[in-house]
Amino acid sequence: MCGIFGVWGHQRAAALTHLGLYSLQHRGQESAGIVAVAPDGVARGVRKMGLVSEGFAAADVSPLHGPVAIGHTRYSTAGSSTIDNAQPVLARFREGHLALAHNGNLVNALEVRRELEDRGSIFSSSMDSEVLVHLMARSSAVKPEHRLADAMAKVEGASSLLVLIGSTLLAARDPRGWRPLVMGRLGDAWVFASETCALDIVGATVEREVLPGEIIAVDRDGVRSLQMPTLPLTRCVFEHVYFARPDSYVFGGSVDRARRALGRQLAREQPCPGADLVFAVPDSSNSAAVGYAEESGLRLELALIRNHYVGRTFIQPSQGDRDAKVKVKYNPVREVLAGKSVVMVDDSIVRGTTTRGLVALIRAAGAREVHMRVSSPPITGPCYYGIDTPSKEELIAANYTVPEIARRIGVDSLGYLSLEGMLAAVPDGPKGFCHACFSGEYPTAPPTTADRTPLVAAK
Ligand code: AMP
Repeated sequence: MCGIFGVWGHQRAAALTHLGLYSLQHRGQESAGIVAVAPDGVARGVRKMGLVSEGFAAADVSPLHGPVAIGHTRYSTAGSSTIDNAQPVLARFREGHLALAHNGNLVNALEVRRELEDRGSIFSSSMDSEVLVHLMARSSAVKPEHRLADAMAKVEGASSLLVLIGSTLLAARDPRGWRPLVMGRLGDAWVFASETCALDIVGATVEREVLPGEIIAVDRDGVRSLQMPTLPLTRCVFEHVYFARPDSYVFGGSVDRARRALGRQLAREQPCPGADLVFAVPDSSNSAAVGYAEESGLRLELALIRNHYVGRTFIQPSQGDRDAKVKVKYNPVREVLAGKSVVMVDDSIVRGTTTRGLVALIRAAGAREVHMRVSSPPITGPCYYGIDTPSKEELIAANYTVPEIARRIGVDSLGYLSLEGMLAAVPDGPKGFCHACFSGEYPTAPPTTADRTPLVAAK
């Protein structure tokens, strides 16, 4: 998964983008990058491995002059974790430069790539997104938005995009609207971001969503909108369940309200009447636990403390030592848990490994009974459209029944939210969402993308 951010028409476009990326850090922690276009038309970029706070110093951003910039935070789902695969991609072609920041996964990238390679294209990364750069460069369209429309017509899958061609900024969503993208205003400048929390940090106001199948072009001639043919809406429901920040509005709805509604629906479907208290696995399930507590009348407690300073560079304990891995990140509050029957709310169970470690910690802190409630249905399949879920073999709910999962993670009871309950709870549901990872109803054929050997080792 990834976060994208862009600015057109502000003197400090790169600095604003740098700030915006801080607010999109949760969408990708492997690498970050910014490309800016100077008034003389020259595009410059910087890409770093790691967190924005670790990789970017003011000295990295200050050479990026100019009123137009785009940025990206990356979580690899297609292509390995190397600097080659960091974005934005910046390339030169006969008309000048082309830069691209992509959120989502294309499912036919390998086929398109092979066709392009057969016609002489050379790729510098193993990313699916690079095919879009080649397709744009090969287009004979004159206007930048038509160039992007030509490219988007040839790919299938999820893509929210920010593109720079010359000093035109393009913002686009795929025809199914899989990933979010919002447009904002900051004085005379235009700002685009994956989530509204990134508009907040720069003081921009929300103008509207980029529509499914829409390309918005911003340049000296003004703002233009090009509407491509759309397909049935498949907005990613997991954005509301887990991925987006609760202070954001995605797909026109509040993530906080969505998660509270998911928690309330969970309490109705999977009550736990004898319990003493409810607590969240922080941070992604905080709002769902609030909803569960509101609906059930159980007291909400802070029973699990998360260490926010761990970052991604902490030394990973050995694979077998799951408890140690969990302990680095979470610690239970004995005072709250000792002798109690507790409801632990989490937004999802993926492999079940973190969950099992957490349950062991909660029991060791003296909890009498541990009842787990999950504010989404069992995840039974991988995501092909941009969420980093493992293969079916590793997904606990693809391989075990709910009672078996309860035994394996060591809880006294386990209750998941139903698919219908989840879709009814999210804003603008129940229709128009992709729920393939829960239901197995994939809107496209599986991807043909395959990772390539990176040219340069990770830095
Ligand atoms: P696990 O123990 O492997 O099932 O992990 C469950 C935890 O992972 C939950 O706390 C989720 O909030 C979190 N989670 C859900 N989806 C993802 C994801 N795509 N990447 C990382 N963590 C996730």
